[in-house]
Amino acid sequence: MANPAPVPAPPVAPPADRRGANLPERIHGLANLTRNLWWSWQLDARELFHRIDHQLWESTRHNAVEFLRQVAPERLEKRAQEPAFLELYDAVMRRFGQLADRNGTWFASRYPELLDRSIAYFSAEFALHRSLPIYSGGLGVLAGDHCKAASDLGVPLIGIGLYYQGGYFDQQIGLDGWQRDSDDPIDPTVNPVVRVNAPGGGPCLVPLTISGREVQIGTWRVMVGRVPVYLLDTDLDCNDPADRKLTARLYTSAPEWRLRQEWVLGVGGVRVLRALGINPEIWHLNEGHAAFMYVERLRELLQKGVPLSTAEHQIRASSVFTTHTPVPAGHDVFTTEQVEQVTGPFWNTMGIARDQFMGLGNTGPTDPRYEMTVLSLRLAGRVNGVSARHREESRRIWRWVWGNKPAAEIPIGYVTNGVHLGTWMARPIRNLIGEALGDGPDWETRVDSSTIAAAARGLDDDRLWAVHEGLRYLLFHYIREEARHRWRDYWKDPAKLAGSGALLSPNVLTLGFARRFATYKRADLLFRDPERLRRLLTNPRRPVQIIFAGKAHPADEPGKRVLQRIFMAAQDPTFEGRIAFLEDYEIHLAQRMVAGVDVWVNLPRVPLEACGTSGMKAALNGVPQLSTLDGWWAEGFTGENGWAIPLPPPDVEPEPSDMDNLFRILENEIVPRYYDRLPGKSSAAWVHMMKGTLAVTVERFTTRQMLQNYVTNYYVPAAAGEALPGEPPP
Ligand SMILES: *Cc1c(COP(=O)(O)O)cnc(C)c1O
Repeated sequence: MANPAPVPAPPVAPPADRRGANLPERIHGLANLTRNLWWSWQLDARELFHRIDHQLWESTRHNAVEFLRQVAPERLEKRAQEPAFLELYDAVMRRFGQLADRNGTWFASRYPELLDRSIAYFSAEFALHRSLPIYSGGLGVLAGDHCKAASDLGVPLIGIGLYYQGGYFDQQIGLDGWQRDSDDPIDPTVNPVVRVNAPGGGPCLVPLTISGREVQIGTWRVMVGRVPVYLLDTDLDCNDPADRKLTARLYTSAPEWRLRQEWVLGVGGVRVLRALGINPEIWHLNEGHAAFMYVERLRELLQKGVPLSTAEHQIRASSVFTTHTPVPAGHDVFTTEQVEQVTGPFWNTMGIARDQFMGLGNTGPTDPRYEMTVLSLRLAGRVNGVSARHREESRRIWRWVWGNKPAAEIPIGYVTNGVHLGTWMARPIRNLIGEALGDGPDWETRVDSSTIAAAARGLDDDRLWAVHEGLRYLLFHYIREEARHRWRDYWKDPAKLAGSGALLSPNVLTLGFARRFATYKRADLLFRDPERLRRLLTNPRRPVQIIFAGKAHPADEPGKRVLQRIFMAAQDPTFEGRIAFLEDYEIHLAQRMVAGVDVWVNLPRVPLEACGTSGMKAALNGVPQLSTLDGWWAEGFTGENGWAIPLPPPDVEPEPSDMDNLFRILENEIVPRYYDRLPGKSSAAWVHMMKGTLAVTVERFTTRQMLQNYVTNYYVPAAAGEALPGEPPP
């Protein structure tokens, strides 16, 4: 394949702006540091902010930009005089300064010849930091973690997403338990995002025709270590007021609106990259939302006079597609009229007929509709699911696209998702392992994973338990402070105080369950036998408590009903305050929850969970998982890292069987093992499992393994022009 022009690397941090004006000269580099989210997964960089003013650091919820705006100048002056602080500062700034240099990274040492190439990574959501709420759940967290791991490994990735200026909704739950969705727009002044101007000046970068009207697309950029993420928007003075709101909200339920957003992301994304002089060699689509990206690149080739079949082959050879869910709601399907209304007559500029254009995403001769996943399967030559089990499901679901070939011949592979260690392993655990390894603060980028796993297995029992108890204490402290503020500010109702965790005890076995309230995730499985649940929770000698959190999609009425049921149960005195529901689940709360509970619970209806990642996050903190054998657990469960709810026999109803097994494992295995210890001591069998949990996950389920897999088996073969794994769909 031809060598594209080298990509102009954006500065790792933009030049200091007026936000740095208050800073003492000796530590003025802090302003630049806050403009790159790299700090958010560096222990020593976080330590800097913590030392400057730990209360403000907590109250700004680790938002470094906001922190610097609010911090008292005297505090900065004082720290700038302290040798110990300055030593830490210099060490952080030295490492930050080295970011621009990729030499020495895993990618540079493996693939030096590919260093000047780039990989575009399109995703409708990115979870990078709490202060940038442009994600709804696991898909976004995965995209954010993918970018962070790419930075660590030196992989030349460029993220492209949308800047939803309205954010994803804030969750507030009424006294009746019904979720109300309120919007809290993103404030770009307390974020590390910067507007990117056209080379000739001005924020209006490229035009795009949407529903017959020309709309200008602009972009913001956020630096995630070495990786720039471009977030497109249409909220520009040069646009018609009606079009300025196009990108305001994530996953609106109106199909035409969503289609327009996907048109902006897919076609606009390619155009914005070109306008900025960026010409990626490989194009990776994280779920089908941005699949028009393939169509725009097809248009580019067709307009250059490349024949259709050759152009299609070229697009397929350089494109990767990751499908993320077997659940139908996760796959956008539109009518051809809707597609025509938004995109028409794009086919004219491509020089193909309308029917050929529609055929790319067509779901078949009867009931012809347009499906983004089908479009992606036709135009991406390398396709994967996100766990071994999900590959099998995907092959079965999408066989029809290949004319119903046997599932084994469907060219869909898999890369099991992972989680980013630097983001999800809590500081005290990281320090404990770092100490065992005798390495510096960023050991996870240097030490290989089997060495880390061995260190985890060798940890001292009592110390690990003490660290875990400390993390649990922190979670409970956080929960109580949140409850206190909400009680004072807007609930004024004691039942809600009890339901939000004020009665939780730090000495009781604590289960955690937090994720989107999609019904297949079955948050309510335990509630199908309320009496058995009550006996489990309120056992006077060996009580159990459960912490729930999660949002239902604003249009998901059944999901909201499940949430309501749990929310009301949390306030029901018969459970004695042993159930808590925490409002407004997002990554900051997730980080505290996965580290502070004792067991992570995951109950998807098999086979609907493609992978599931929150259990991996808990595992990175030594928290074992109890889960149905779905997604990653089908390959990750080893017997030393948690418990598996067995698959029901083929002729048995899954719900009652799963529920009974869930209770049985809790009653007979988890509770006895946890409480079998002396006061103030750890249970040897329990801590042994904690270590197994840590070891298995650091070795197999971090984004480092995941990204190395993508690079080795997807990106590099695409860059090298290797043969595709299978035939295109007919
Ligand atoms: C990890 C994460 C998820 C995904 O959790 P699953 O177990 O995969 O459903 C959702 N939301 C947040 C905030 C997360 O951190």
